[in-house]
Amino acid sequence: MPTELVDSFGRVHRDLRVSVTDRCNFRCSYCMPTEGMVWQPRDEILTFEEIERIVRVAVERFGVRSVRLTGGEPTVRAHLPVLIGRLSALGVDLALTTNGSSLSLLAEDLVAAGLSRINVSLDSLRADRFATITGRHGLDRVLEGIDAAVAAGLAPVKINMVVMAGVNDDEVVDMAAFGRRRGVEVRFIEFMPLDAQQAWVDGDVVPAASIVAAIDEVYPLESVPRTSSAPAQQWRYRDGAGSIGVIPTVTESFCSTCDRVRLTADGQFRTCLFATDEHDLRGLMRGGASDDQLAAVMTSAVEGKWAGHQIGQVHFIRPRRSMSQIGG
Ligand code: SAM
Ligand code: SF4
Repeated sequence: MPTELVDSFGRVHRDLRVSVTDRCNFRCSYCMPTEGMVWQPRDEILTFEEIERIVRVAVERFGVRSVRLTGGEPTVRAHLPVLIGRLSALGVDLALTTNGSSLSLLAEDLVAAGLSRINVSLDSLRADRFATITGRHGLDRVLEGIDAAVAAGLAPVKINMVVMAGVNDDEVVDMAAFGRRRGVEVRFIEFMPLDAQQAWVDGDVVPAASIVAAIDEVYPLESVPRTSSAPAQQWRYRDGAGSIGVIPTVTESFCSTCDRVRLTADGQFRTCLFATDEHDLRGLMRGGASDDQLAAVMTSAVEGKWAGHQIGQVHFIRPRRSMSQIGG
């Protein structure tokens, strides 16, 4: 059995995203249906033991080094710090992506359990717009959460902003200013066709290049050379006040250097956000499969990974599940 997760294009996969729940206390319009979302039954969601087992196999067999917990909203999963403690004992670099709504309560416990890095999603600094986008009032709680994450020693704390034309693109410079003031890096993400409403159209996307140009006009930027396969392109402020990232999934796909695989909350192994097929690790585990068998499925799934997503091409097929169910 190979000792790395390598695909037929030679890409080595060392980054695992693990969704710990499909549930969420928000209803972001670009991510899940605003009404009628049906959660998966609890017995279909992986237990902590099952998650730990798959991560251990990925670490021991394939040298996976980086694990990011996501969802749904990971902080709604009960006893999240317990899971973080177990995974951090495996020696991985552990990060979390969250909507930030519970961080003022949880940040210290997460750090004590072994979390090192965090990304907080924040798409607007205007309370009314925040409520429209997320379906919930609570901007202040998220802002408090960001401060709590910084105070608890999480480093880096990054902000994820999904930029949508005509929705929040007029706040790009305000968000950059917010990041500069708070000493956190803002990552501007192109809106991807993973909304549950399936309402995404090309024109909703604000190209990364326009985002950089808008910020550069007010806070001059210089590009930071790429040093890793990370999807974000880094830019730093020429005045030394930190940096930003832009994630140009749609306009400049970074698929050729992708090193990421995913595990959904219900135990399906995916090789791409936009994959239309999944590999059922939960069924295998519950059927008594050995670690070798789990590893073999992961190996063959990655071997068969495609070259890249086909957004914008006629044969592009949206994944059956929305972003909240896949795990962003
Ligand atoms: N609930 C957590 C949160 O909001 O950070 C974690 C899960 S969420 C699915 C992970 C990330 O995916 C968030 O930063 C969110 O903004 C992003 N996301 C969701 N739907 C998206 C879309 N259609 N296009 C781009 N990013 C999206
Ligand atoms: Fe929930 Fe995160 Fe999706 Fe918003 S982006 S609905 S917070 S999972």
